[in-house]
Amino acid sequence: MKYATKLLLSYLLLSVLSFTIILISVNKAIDYFSFVTIEKQMMEKADMCELTFREILTKHEKLKAQGLAPDVPESALETLKASAKEVRIYDSNLKLKGLAVGGIRVNNGTPLIFKGNIEKALKGNYSYTVTENKLIYFAIPIQDQFYENVYVFELVENISYFYDIMDKIRYILFIGAGGFIFLITLSSLYIARKTTKPIKYLLGATERFSKQQFEHVELHRKDELGMLAAGLNQMGIQLKDYIQYQKQFVSNVSHELKTPLAAISGFSQYLYEGENEDKDLQKIYFHLVNESERLTMLINELLILSRFDKADQLELNTEKTDLSKLINSVVLDLKSKADKQEITIEVNLEKAVFVYVNKILMSHAVANILDNAIRYSSPKTHIKVETFVRQTEAVIKISDQGIGIDQSDILRVHERFYRAKNSNAAKGSGLGLSICKEIVEKFNGHLEIESEIGVGTTVAMILPFT
Ligand code: ATP
Ligand code: MG
Repeated sequence: MKYATKLLLSYLLLSVLSFTIILISVNKAIDYFSFVTIEKQMMEKADMCELTFREILTKHEKLKAQGLAPDVPESALETLKASAKEVRIYDSNLKLKGLAVGGIRVNNGTPLIFKGNIEKALKGNYSYTVTENKLIYFAIPIQDQFYENVYVFELVENISYFYDIMDKIRYILFIGAGGFIFLITLSSLYIARKTTKPIKYLLGATERFSKQQFEHVELHRKDELGMLAAGLNQMGIQLKDYIQYQKQFVSNVSHELKTPLAAISGFSQYLYEGENEDKDLQKIYFHLVNESERLTMLINELLILSRFDKADQLELNTEKTDLSKLINSVVLDLKSKADKQEITIEVNLEKAVFVYVNKILMSHAVANILDNAIRYSSPKTHIKVETFVRQTEAVIKISDQGIGIDQSDILRVHERFYRAKNSNAAKGSGLGLSICKEIVEKFNGHLEIESEIGVGTTVAMILPFT
């Protein structure tokens, strides 16, 4: 997952999570607030009713003392019947003593009774229940002059209007939450883009560094990223200088060695070809000739590479070249080497494939790859050399049935002096493929290497027509 996506997702997750927590808490607070408000309203009403009820009770106590027998619930109901949508009066035996609905007394009603509330009220506590159809049943204890809970007065009110208000508040809150999350998404997107832009720039710079393309790296900012860019830039400068120095050193040494090596090579050849009876000396001379030839080849390769390093001065002299002619002549040059190991070379060339290259350099590159194919193959195997056209490119493909290259080495075999794990199979300096790569790249082409240990290797040189 990309860093920007990770950043965006974590921002979103965090904000959605915190907003959900806020939303749940606010929702709970609204619930709490609504019940507290309803309770307060009902209590105020209950206090009024209780007061009136108790006045009636006191008045009737006096009448009782005078020998009369007044009906308390009857009088209380008559006075308080319009104080709620529905009012009820219960005695201390939980018996319904009076009921009024909408201010009208009802005699034979069978209303829904919350017994628990009435029992609680008879113990002196206010108690209520809210039903699903948003009716509140509020039971009020009524005490006589001896503080005995003798009656329960119950109010039934419709509180749906309150729920409607709360639902509206919740609706507004949810709309706000939606807007907030939308804004958070937009700002996270912006922040993620803004944060990853310089990182992408630095990543691009390191990628170019790995291809030895050193360019100035700078971020106009004073934070850690700015410092990282400055550090990277410094590293690039040092790396470039170091590589330049290394190349210059190799080039100077190669130049210095060229003349004495030519002398050594010439003299050893002279000694080897001269009259000599001593077999041991003859062997030594032979060895000298071989090694000085190998060294001469190495120096020549190093000099080619140093010419490439001074690319500006390198005169390429490209010309329209018939690939089949060029390849046939390279194959001819190396045929005797292949014959020595009884390796057969099959040549399969498409006719009239022309590319713009420097003939000498290109022959050198093809020869290097064919030489590898022969060198890293067992005797009596087969090598295939093909050329063909692929879209807008010419392909030169050399496949062998040799020892193959390990996958971990494939990406590195074209580095200078790099030899794969299999390299003890033959002598070499590890420069051949790096020269091929540089030559092909000079003509805007590239190398493709495929290989399997024990099966063989295919190296393709791809050259564009333009
Ligand atoms: P030289 O500079 O003399 O060519 P070299 O052959 O070792 O030396 P390269 O041609 O650059 O160097 O090849 C690099 C390494 O890649 C070789 O050492 C070898 O391990 C591996 N290699 C190249 N071509 C083949 C091949 N056809 N089959 C197996 N291994 C190969
Ligand atoms: Mg080689």
